[in-house]
Amino acid sequence: MGRAFDRAIALWRDEGCGPVLVLTGAGISAESGIPTFRGSDGYWTVGSRNYRPMELATLAAFCAMPLEVWRFYLQRIRRHADAVPNAAHLALADLEALLGDRFTLITQNVDGLHLRAGSSEARTWRIHGDLRFVRCADACGFGVAPLPHLPGRLHLDDRSHDEALRELLRCPSCAGWLRPHVLWFDECYDEEHFRFESSLRAARSASLLLVVGTSGATNLPDRIVRTVHARQRPILVVDPEGGAFADLAAEVTGGAHFRATATRGVCEVVDALRAVATLRRP
Ligand code: ZN
Repeated sequence: MGRAFDRAIALWRDEGCGPVLVLTGAGISAESGIPTFRGSDGYWTVGSRNYRPMELATLAAFCAMPLEVWRFYLQRIRRHADAVPNAAHLALADLEALLGDRFTLITQNVDGLHLRAGSSEARTWRIHGDLRFVRCADACGFGVAPLPHLPGRLHLDDRSHDEALRELLRCPSCAGWLRPHVLWFDECYDEEHFRFESSLRAARSASLLLVVGTSGATNLPDRIVRTVHARQRPILVVDPEGGAFADLAAEVTGGAHFRATATRGVCEVVDALRAVATLRRP
């Protein structure tokens, strides 16, 4: 009896090892110690009110209390500063090095771990943004820039540091607010920042889709998987749990749900893809 994903790899080989599309979510970074956004950060207190992370991750909240929303993000950024890419991130970077233009990585994660693992900026589409970057909240034309360095002496919970924080987060071009370069819950995907159309195009041409650690609660990932499903191309889902994407994978020829952690599952699948792709190299 073969492995759950062998059939998909064989189909991919028989079709000439065409474009591989990889979609990743929070599950791939869990083993790097980054908690999922929706669940585990608990509440965030502003004055006497408790907010859920999902209430703060909105343009409306930012417009009403920019410094508080920034405080919430900077705290997350600091807490995750020690996280490093794991074997799954590294395996995908290796696969890109092998496949080149036949590889696209679409990630919902804003932690920057794929790029730090060696995946290229050009082929890693961060459809929910990247917390290590900022842009002007007023879209004055300043563009996307790295997050300014946050000195260790700045304490986020010390109100006497508010002025310094505000200064740090001032747009160098128009002096308005910088904002985190992420897609908020009350905002829409676009091509310029989040590669919306490109992602759907990649789904329309993929020969194989590998989904890692996402259950598909958001619109674009859902459309990506459904597009590949409608084209009846193999879908492999690596996830310790089931979910909508695992169900869709089961409905296509060669599709499979590989119940494994991201590091184990991705490494095994990438090894198998690599073995086939290397064989077929001229
Ligand atoms: Zn500006």
